[in-house]
Amino acid sequence: MSIAIALDGPAGAGKSTIARRAASELNYIYVDTGALYRSIALAALKKGIEPDDAAEAEKLLPEITVDLAFNESGEQIVLLNGENVSADIRTPEVSMAASKISAIPAVRAFLLDLQRGMAKTHNVIMDGRDIGTVVLPDAQVKIFLTASPEARAGRRYKELVEKGMDVNFEDILQDVITRDYNDSHRETAPLKPAPDSVTVDTTELDFEQSVEKIISVIKENL
Ligand code: C5P
Repeated sequence: MSIAIALDGPAGAGKSTIARRAASELNYIYVDTGALYRSIALAALKKGIEPDDAAEAEKLLPEITVDLAFNESGEQIVLLNGENVSADIRTPEVSMAASKISAIPAVRAFLLDLQRGMAKTHNVIMDGRDIGTVVLPDAQVKIFLTASPEARAGRRYKELVEKGMDVNFEDILQDVITRDYNDSHRETAPLKPAPDSVTVDTTELDFEQSVEKIISVIKENL
């Protein structure tokens, strides 16, 4: 049987960078489920569909395919209608649209089998919002990774500036707060710790300490 580690938490808690590193140390596949919601958001934006228009978003779903692939370094690539959109989905506009479109139950249902299928065929660390509660309720280890909104916004700010984007810290902090609110107040699969999860707060931890902590929680709980 394959091993599944569910890693949930709010935007910018460092889930993706920490999970990517932990997965490579443990020899698991890292699955970033946010990229799937972002791809659907991108498809909607391209078609001029408002990301909170459930009826239009539902009509869009049968017209698109979303797939995951892995390159030779084991990095995830997300394909929208066969096209690699891994870079295009990383803009603040797509972040906000993903937060809205992910509240639509049909969108969540559309991505469920893809996520479960990955965990059936590989040992995974899967990062998202509802992995431990909905997608993989039987995951062997569930971690809820969090940090203060200011710490999370600061990290995202640094990441975007390093990519050469012209961004403003206050705007990013507001985005983080709005996305937290959207993610934790939606009716379907809201962001919340699974009852059997271990919470790890990285506000005071640097990257190496966070990775160490996550790996030790995984080893202790397997
Ligand atoms: O993790 P990331 O910030 O890339 O996710 C983008 C958006 O997708 C989140 O704000 C959240 O609304 C949504 N999401 C979700 N469920 C997941 C992963 C992401 O609702 N499992």
